[in-house]
Amino acid sequence: METSKKNLNIYGSGPAGLAAALYAVRSGLDVTVFETSAFGGKLNEIPSLDNFPGFPGGPGRDLANSEIKKLKSLGVKFAYSDTDKTLSPADAILLATGTVPKKLDFTPVPPVSYCALCDAPLYRDKSVAVVGSGNSAASGALYLSDLASSVTIFANSDLRAEPATLSALEKKSNIKIEKVLATEENTKDFAAVFVFIGHTPASSMLEPALLDEKGYVKTDETHRVKDNIFAAGSVRSGVLDQCITSAADGAAAAVDIINFLKQ
Ligand SMILES: Cc1cc2nc3c(=O)[nH]c(=O)nc-3n(C[C@H](O)[C@H](O)[C@H](O)COP(=O)(O)OP(=O)(O)OC[C@H]3O[C@@H](n4cnc5c(N)ncnc54)[C@H](O)[C@@H]3O)c2cc1C
Repeated sequence: METSKKNLNIYGSGPAGLAAALYAVRSGLDVTVFETSAFGGKLNEIPSLDNFPGFPGGPGRDLANSEIKKLKSLGVKFAYSDTDKTLSPADAILLATGTVPKKLDFTPVPPVSYCALCDAPLYRDKSVAVVGSGNSAASGALYLSDLASSVTIFANSDLRAEPATLSALEKKSNIKIEKVLATEENTKDFAAVFVFIGHTPASSMLEPALLDEKGYVKTDETHRVKDNIFAAGSVRSGVLDQCITSAADGAAAAVDIINFLKQ
C-alpha cells in the first residue's frame, strides 16, 4: 500500500527556493513553492547573469524560467501567496524569502524603481537618476544607459563595483557620476529615480528572537530555525547574497529537511 508523501512548503522562488524544490521533489517530497511576487525572485532583475557556473550568461530570468519548467515537469506546485505573515501548515516549511530593497529617506518627486531590467523601457530617451554606489547601482546604470538618453549616478562614495562593470561604465558617454547624496531637490527633474542602496531581509513572519541584529534569520547548522521551520538563501544569517551561494544553501537545506522528515 502506498503511504502518503510528506509535504514541504517553500516560501520564495529565488535561487534558494528553486534549488531546494529540486532536491526535495527528487527525494519524493510533495513540494509547493509559494511566492508573493514574480516566480524566480531576483533572478528576474538581473540584466546579465555572468557568474553562475554552467549558465552561459544573459538575463537571469532565462535561468529562472528553465528551472521552473523543469520543476513543474517533476510535479512541484507553484502558488501565489498574498501575505508575508502566514505560513500554511506542512510537515516542513522552508523560508527562502530573500531580501527587499532599502528605500530612500525622502520621497522623490519622479517615479521610483528598484529594478532597471523591469522598468528601463518606460524611460527610453529620457534622463534618469540612479542612487547607489555598489555593483547593483553600477550594473543598473549600465543597463539603463542603452535606453535612456542620460543616466546620472548619485553615489555617496567611489563606486564599489566589479572591475569589468567599472570599465564598461567608463566607456559610456551618457553616464555621469555625481559624488553627492541624492536629495529631493537634486533628483526632482529626472524622469525616474532608480534606487540601489542595499537590501534588508524579508523575515517579518518570524518573531525578533529568531533573527540576528540585522534581521537575518538565525538557524542551527542544519538550517533549522525552530520546530519544523527551516531557512535558506540570502534571508539566512551569514549567507553571501549571490545566486550561486543562495542556490547552494537551498540545496543543503533541502537535504537537512529530508533527514529531519525521516526521523
Ligand atoms: C539588480 C540585481 C543584480 C544582481 N546581479 C547578480 C549577479 O550578477 N550575480 C549574482 O550571483 N547575484 C546577483 N544579484 C543577487 C542575487 O539576485 C541574489 O543573491 C539572489 O537572488 C538571492 O536568492 P534568494 O533565493 O535568497 O532570494 P531572492 O532571489 O530575493 O528570492 C526571494 C523570493 O521570496 C519572495 N518572498 C518574500 N517574502 C515572501 C513570502 N512571505 N512568501 C512567499 N514569497 C516571498 C520574494 O518575492 C522573492 O521572489 C543581483 C541582485 C540584484 C537586485
